[in-house]
Amino acid sequence: MNKCPSCGYERKVSDIRCPECGSFYSKIAELIAEEEDYEEKHSLRGRCLRILKADDIKRELRIELDQVIAGLSKKAIFTLFVIIAFVFALTLSVL
Ligand SMILES: [Zn+2]
Repeated sequence: MNKCPSCGYERKVSDIRCPECGSFYSKIAELIAEEEDYEEKHSLRGRCLRILKADDIKRELRIELDQVIAGLSKKAIFTLFVIIAFVFALTLSVL
């Protein structure tokens, strides 16, 4: 039986992370978990889940929106503006 290098907790073969102290048994497992964590945080699904899980959904939604806007370049914002303006003009002409 292997033991956790950090706290000596007896590990199961299937575990990649120590249930006792939370440290990863191998560097690769740690990197993969970090990568998955990052993907989860930055995917649309992850964002939606986080917003839905938040206590204050409205506030969380605004933070996410701010982050998205901050991540966009000026060109992207301009493109978005043009699209919105176009859709708006289209809607007006139909009415
Ligand atoms: Zn441990």
